[in-house]
Amino acid sequence: MPTLASASTVDSAALADCAARLEPARLRRDVALAPYTTIKIGGPADLLYEPDSADDLARAVTAARETGTPWFLMGLGANILIADRGIRGLVIRNRARHFQFHDDGRLWAESGAVMAELIPEAVNRGWSGLEHYIGIPSTVGGAVWQNLHFLSPAPARERTMLIEEVFESAELLTAEGTRRVATREDMKFAYDYSILHDRPDIALSVTLKLERGDPAVMHRILQENLSWRGGKHPWLEYHPSVGSIFKKIEGVGAGRLIDQVGLKGHRLGGAQISHIHANIFVNLGGATAADVRALIRLAQQKVEAETGYRIETEIAMVGDFGAT
Ligand SMILES: Cc1cc2nc3c(=O)[nH]c(=O)nc-3n(C[C@H](O)[C@H](O)[C@H](O)COP(=O)(O)OP(=O)(O)OC[C@H]3O[C@@H](n4cnc5c(N)ncnc54)[C@H](O)[C@@H]3O)c2cc1C
Repeated sequence: MPTLASASTVDSAALADCAARLEPARLRRDVALAPYTTIKIGGPADLLYEPDSADDLARAVTAARETGTPWFLMGLGANILIADRGIRGLVIRNRARHFQFHDDGRLWAESGAVMAELIPEAVNRGWSGLEHYIGIPSTVGGAVWQNLHFLSPAPARERTMLIEEVFESAELLTAEGTRRVATREDMKFAYDYSILHDRPDIALSVTLKLERGDPAVMHRILQENLSWRGGKHPWLEYHPSVGSIFKKIEGVGAGRLIDQVGLKGHRLGGAQISHIHANIFVNLGGATAADVRALIRLAQQKVEAETGYRIETEIAMVGDFGAT
């Protein structure tokens, strides 16, 4: 399983230089990351920084790059599995949450803005396009990284709607350290994919283009989508998860394959394949990243052996997993 930010050691002088360039009030050391993920798993970050503006975010990434400190940027931690040994170097938890609605339907948002806050604001202002994604934990940056998607609108649910449909542009901090505006074409969106998967660029802010909508219709979609999710997915408040573990297999469904090989409800340590949705693994309490990885391997091996399908993870594995 490929991992991000996988360093197992870090140069302490580089770390000290990096720390010295960050705003002390927003910097902490040796911080357990589990509480900042939706699955409540993950060891410590050497440094945890919480920028509160896009400029502050850019400064933090630049400080890490210029001091040679390994770094990782996270949003709500809803699509990542962090190693039990944590992440070496600097973890940046994006709290840059300013946003602004414009009269022509454009919504500018810093990349740490949270969808759960933007969606009701948009609906109340009569702007349509975001309501489909209600109930999905995500920052705007995470949504763009992954091309957030959902089967909507109700009742037909005939197609997967993608955040790229309302995406207009993003201001990126590139790997080379420049700030530039990327268009939809530049982002090379696909299912579960944007160019951010393959370049160490980060999104500082995003401009979305919304359409005028009927508030009654939007409220109906909000209610229907929340109810649909509530009935089909384990409830995050009680059963922490990262949503779907495996990528969709068109016309088959990774969850259905896992169900077919008899693994629904299977438990390893504190991690369990959900009883109600086999593509979602839940933390029953005290689950480790190692438990989840072992469950992933078991599902992959059994599904391939018994059905011939290869199921691939859609979540990012982040941090010091060592040789496991
Ligand atoms: C209960 C549940 C249900 C879910 N349902 C859905 C669903 O229906 N549809 C769906 O698409 N997803 C779903 N997900 C997955 C998840 O919500 C999305 O992938 C979401 O976009 C993750 O956002 P985040 O802010 O938490 O990103 P994180 O998980 O924190 O980060 C994910 C990746 O994005 C990168 N990233 C974050 N911000 C930036 C940035 N500003 N610039 C560059 N890279 C960045 C990170 O480095 C990391 O590699 C679900 C998850 C849960 C827990």
